[in-house]
Amino acid sequence: MKRIVITILVCSLWAGNALATWCESPRLGMKSSAMIRRYLNDLADNSSGYAKVRSIGTTSGTDGSPPKEITAILITENASWENDGGKPTVIITGAIHGNEWATPEVCLGIAEYLLDNKDNTAPARDARGELINSGAGTAAGETTGIIPRLNSISRLLKKIQVIIIPVYNPEGYDYSQTPEGKMSYYGAGWRPNRRRLAAGPQEEICYRQDGTVYPAPPADAEHCFLADYDDTASGGEVEEESVIVCESTDGKTLSLFKPSLSVASAEMFDAIYNSRDPRRVVCASGQRRVWKETWSGDDEDRVSLARARKEGYLRPAFGTDINRNFQYKWDVTNNQKHLFIRTRSPSSRMYRGPGAISEPESTAMERLIAGRNVVALIDYHAGSTQVLYPYAYSTRDRVNRNILADGTGRSDYEIFHAVSEKIAAILNRYGGDDKSISGYTAAQNYNGTSVGSGVARDCYYQTEGIAALN
Ligand SMILES: [Zn+2]
Repeated sequence: MKRIVITILVCSLWAGNALATWCESPRLGMKSSAMIRRYLNDLADNSSGYAKVRSIGTTSGTDGSPPKEITAILITENASWENDGGKPTVIITGAIHGNEWATPEVCLGIAEYLLDNKDNTAPARDARGELINSGAGTAAGETTGIIPRLNSISRLLKKIQVIIIPVYNPEGYDYSQTPEGKMSYYGAGWRPNRRRLAAGPQEEICYRQDGTVYPAPPADAEHCFLADYDDTASGGEVEEESVIVCESTDGKTLSLFKPSLSVASAEMFDAIYNSRDPRRVVCASGQRRVWKETWSGDDEDRVSLARARKEGYLRPAFGTDINRNFQYKWDVTNNQKHLFIRTRSPSSRMYRGPGAISEPESTAMERLIAGRNVVALIDYHAGSTQVLYPYAYSTRDRVNRNILADGTGRSDYEIFHAVSEKIAAILNRYGGDDKSISGYTAAQNYNGTSVGSGVARDCYYQTEGIAALN
């Protein structure tokens, strides 16, 4: 036990140099969520009352493995989960996506930094000796703004509290480190949680082209589903979320639909609905579907449903993408044709869940925020070199409220943009030394184009009034 803790400590302190490579070597393994919890407990035990650890909820548990704790550390002077005196609160989360392994490390680094400097009254400096918040204390006084403009950690921890959740999705995170989890999605690793979806064929849901749900699956149209493509019999591999399969109206035949189109395109979505004779609609159920290459004949890609079922067409589906499960714009369909098939399919790594806030993880966050004075939230991802602000659901709609009030008279949109640019600029300061930290930009949407429904940062801002960034 002691050695494990020391190993984690060394890895965390030395992240960024050669030791980090050793710490993250696949042979030796990554930190599990349980190891991170033990480490947080150790930090709190040695914090002189500046840190308290608590579980904010438990995951659902999945086939064969019990529920896991979602662990948080609260850092402030006289830390108390029970009575925080309404202190302005900043929440920091990592690993909402299981495969983003760097993000718990960032969270642990921040926790260590704050606690190492809890008595430090000098202006905070980064590892290169540069002032972290050089403009602090001058722009608009210490008490106005999103968070107090303080630059010493000692004073910061008197004024605000920081809640850090290094592994927000412990089930997905731990699973992403298993051999099967690592292989998932072309080697990118497991992203959602691991809740097994209960729905069977009787829970099949079909959608109209405008995204609304049919009261009952239409009998006069083929039902089309997202599916994986299994080419292993011919020496290939399982291509995940790569094809659309359609079940005939008489329920006897399964066929592959237009495999030349990407399932993640508006063209595919429209092509399904533009079908005539037979008519086709997009459907989803609680099962993962797999099309086998061996079912494709010389002229046509079609097989009897009875044979397909016998040979493994339907399998259990696991996992909801927690970052698609929040209630604000959970059901948005406008301008989302290219995402629609995925977010509504339980077999997809970007599945939005059976309902808004249907997951224990999103429910735990709602509970954590309720009754606290949460002013800012940073949700760390490891997918790109961008600092992202709301709204994720649209490339056109801009944040148009003025609730953040940083004391400068700027609109929320201007504040989000300016703060994101500032963070990107701070990150880019390291560009010369570390090529992995360079070229950061501020943006509203992933890659400037990709939109998502039910994204956490949209909900944190719109529903809870929190300045939330990714
Ligand atoms: Zn992510």
